[in-house]
Amino acid sequence: DELRTLLLSRIHDVPDYPRPGVVFKDITPLLADPAAFGALTDALAALCRAYRADKVVGLEARGFILAAPVAVSAGVGFVPVRKAGKLPGATLRQAYDLEYGTAEIELHADALRPGDRVLVIDDVLATGGTAEASLHLIRRAGAEVAGVAVLLELGFLDGRQRLQASLDGAPLEAL
Ligand code: 5GP
Repeated sequence: DELRTLLLSRIHDVPDYPRPGVVFKDITPLLADPAAFGALTDALAALCRAYRADKVVGLEARGFILAAPVAVSAGVGFVPVRKAGKLPGATLRQAYDLEYGTAEIELHADALRPGDRVLVIDDVLATGGTAEASLHLIRRAGAEVAGVAVLLELGFLDGRQRLQASLDGAPLEAL
């Protein structure tokens, strides 16, 4: 549809970044276009309301950029999930597998309350490892996963399949 066409036209392919053979999806042209960024924010805020979420979690770093205006627009709190070692307070930490090696992300231990319904927002779903780890953090904090929303899903990496068990029936929407 129209939104899809607009958003796709503002995402640029960068070949051989960050390493040879990888085509990186660059969303900075979208962020620089207020019509496209505004339409994306509106669509994500509509999902936030439809899923009855009362918190949005943004995944570092581009997830922060997308989730923050959604939180303001939908009138819900913004909560960051960060790479390990960046949050100042007591945290919950979750490790996950990368193509080579492992990574860790963190959530402030008191950022979510039992009963909170959380919408996770990121720019790109690739292998699904980052999103999957964030869902574990949200559940360990005692909160409920209302859904996951991303701008772009790289279907050939099967992230949706990897996420299926951790979604536990919650919706995954790729705009
Ligand atoms: P995953 O854990 O799903 O493999 O990787 C997803 C994370 O890596 C996301 O936080 C996303 O920002 C980043 N990522 C992976 N590939 C791309 C890409 O092609 N473009 C952008 N913008 N981000 C990517």
